[in-house]
Amino acid sequence: MKLDVNMLRYLSKDDFRVLTAVEMGMRNHEIVPCELVDRIASLKHGGTYKVLKNLLRHKLLHHDSSKYDGFRLTYLGYDFLAIKTLVNRGVFVSVGRQIGVGKESDIFEVATEDGTVMAMKLHRLGRVSFRAVKSKRDYLKHRSSYSWLYLSRLAALKEFAFMKALEEHGFPVPSAVDCNRHCVIMSLVQGYPLVQVKQLQNPEVVFETIIGLVVRLAEHGLIHCDFNEFNIMIDDDEKVTMIDFPQMVSVSHHNAQMYFDRDVECVFKFFRKRFNMNFQECRDDIDRTEVDTDESRRLCFSSIAKDAVFLDKELAASGFTRKDQEEIEKFIEGSLDKDASSGDEGTEDDTDNSALNESNIEGVDSLNLLDQDQTSNLKQEEEGAEDNLRNCE
Ligand code: ADP
Ligand code: MG
Repeated sequence: MKLDVNMLRYLSKDDFRVLTAVEMGMRNHEIVPCELVDRIASLKHGGTYKVLKNLLRHKLLHHDSSKYDGFRLTYLGYDFLAIKTLVNRGVFVSVGRQIGVGKESDIFEVATEDGTVMAMKLHRLGRVSFRAVKSKRDYLKHRSSYSWLYLSRLAALKEFAFMKALEEHGFPVPSAVDCNRHCVIMSLVQGYPLVQVKQLQNPEVVFETIIGLVVRLAEHGLIHCDFNEFNIMIDDDEKVTMIDFPQMVSVSHHNAQMYFDRDVECVFKFFRKRFNMNFQECRDDIDRTEVDTDESRRLCFSSIAKDAVFLDKELAASGFTRKDQEEIEKFIEGSLDKDASSGDEGTEDDTDNSALNESNIEGVDSLNLLDQDQTSNLKQEEEGAEDNLRNCE
């Protein structure tokens, strides 16, 4: 999706006020009736309809007149609200080039006043999850209040909370800076995704480090679940940083062993193919459980998981609760179960850059009707919205 942040400069206070009013209306309405937008925005000099037209022209809103005349936010509209909130908080002052397109995200550079460059990840659930969502159609039917925006916000909060907790425990992850709505700000990782690296000085050392990370994660009660060459960054000194945490699960998850093995297998497979490493002996050790070598003990999931120390407290400190985890797990499970070897390039042919602009997302009747629980989860977002309304004064 194109993110023309220059447009931000040309949006007036009234534009943001109306955009925020649509967001607030979406708590209870899939499509927010024009009259409601007008009431919430209460522009001093009127003119809500003209503003709505302007926002629609810039693709920040989607218009729907099938049942009644109303609007909802597009991802672009949601982007602008998050960016504006973070800029108002002083987190960054400008948005630069796009540095990554993930499966379900867009990553941009942002800069602070003193020129420090950071990474901004905008979560876009629904982009390639059509298959996953379709397979979860029954679930979604009963919970029609699920929305892409809500899920993206939850994914961002989860990513932020995990990154912060992992950083506190000394894991090599980007530094978590801030989070608002579906947007996470983190330090910029120098280096490249491992998938782009053709040669290493010390492939054995890098391999050991990476496998060591999977094991250490499990010791902390966690499985990455998408631990592959697309989510491991490596710099010129061959220092490893892992990224991309929205799909992580606990070692107590009913499929934990499978996800753990799959993460391990991904690493083995990649190093075998790319760096011609031969793991025959090592794999034999792992497979033959009766062989009690260091290697087999190290990678024996059940023995690691049984002594795992969970990071619940650290996660809750960022506002991410066990309940949030359960909510997002119900949604992501479909995408977790697909073959990990399909990779992370975001090249699937059902990639859709404008999920939220499509009004025909199958199986999701109501995009943005939030239920009671979800509404209570929106506290942080509301603060942002109210800040925005205040800043529009
Ligand atoms: P997705 O969840 O959509 O796969 P990722 O978090 O894996 O998104 O990010 C996609 C790509 O963006 C990465 O492969 C990497 O190239 C780039 N990227 C993500 N985070 C950072 C960061 N903190 N610093 C530098 N590049 C990043
Ligand atoms: Mg990724």
